[in-house]
Amino acid sequence: MPKFTYEKPYYTMHRFLKETFGQKVFKVSLNAGFSCPNKDGTKGVGGCIYCSLSGSGDFAGSVKENLQSQFDTIKTMMQKKWSQGKYIAYFQANTNTYADRAVLKTLYDEALGLDPNIVGLAIATRADCLDESIVDLLDTYHQKTYLQVELGLQSIHEKTAEKINRGHDLKTFDAAVRRLRNRGINVVVHIINGFPWESEDAMLKTVQHLNSLDIQGIKIHMLHVVKNTKLANLYHQEPFDLIDRDTYAKVVANQIEHLDPNIVIQRLTGDAKRSDLITPFWTLKKFVVINTIDKLLRERGSYQGIYFKR
Ligand code: SF4
Repeated sequence: MPKFTYEKPYYTMHRFLKETFGQKVFKVSLNAGFSCPNKDGTKGVGGCIYCSLSGSGDFAGSVKENLQSQFDTIKTMMQKKWSQGKYIAYFQANTNTYADRAVLKTLYDEALGLDPNIVGLAIATRADCLDESIVDLLDTYHQKTYLQVELGLQSIHEKTAEKINRGHDLKTFDAAVRRLRNRGINVVVHIINGFPWESEDAMLKTVQHLNSLDIQGIKIHMLHVVKNTKLANLYHQEPFDLIDRDTYAKVVANQIEHLDPNIVIQRLTGDAKRSDLITPFWTLKKFVVINTIDKLLRERGSYQGIYFKR
């Protein structure tokens, strides 16, 4: 069990990367032009209600540019601040296992070859786009580099899955995690707090379920209403209340206290582009949100996993 002797009372991505690679590692978000089966009718239509037209990849490179050019642009920006570092190529936008194996292989190989300092791949996808043959392919990358597969769960509750039009159930998600874990592939799960119909206890239960699945990382987000989404239409038709910053901090602190201490917390809050955000605006001050969570944990004298039960 990791000891939280560092500056943070939880297992941060910064610490994980330092321990794993011995130096600073940056994730470079790429847009390889994938689509999503929850938009094109294969699994569903219209997509998840909070998903913007660009497909949950608002900070990825521009699909109009090739991967090399996307990578070089972001690397140049990062080098202005940090001259040294390694990189993880992050296939972020849309569903990055939604293509033929041959196409996937070409793109993943290309990403690994973009720069000699690339030390791994992160691939964001859906649980229903990970059949055995795709997992076979992912396993070949797991054998030769650092690989993490990121899955958007958001919530374990079926009512939420239906309301957000996720397009697959919890059973499908759990089975995909098992397929990945059977090969030892690192799994990172995205969850969203603050669905107006979910109680604080319901949000906690999502984390408790993840504890049972042998995942390696978690990204915790606050529900954002952003422009050009179905959620934005719903909000304009009938505005609903979202939790405030202090309530969010309390929910996240509770989740951290129950989270398996071996799971790396890769994110504590999401960030939308200011120009796209409709509500809640407190999320724009990301450092204030994180500081509020940290302060609460310190006041409680607690840390990640204090209430974790296997
Ligand atoms: S699975 Fe991802 S890309 Fe597809 S609609 Fe949902 S959020 Fe958007």
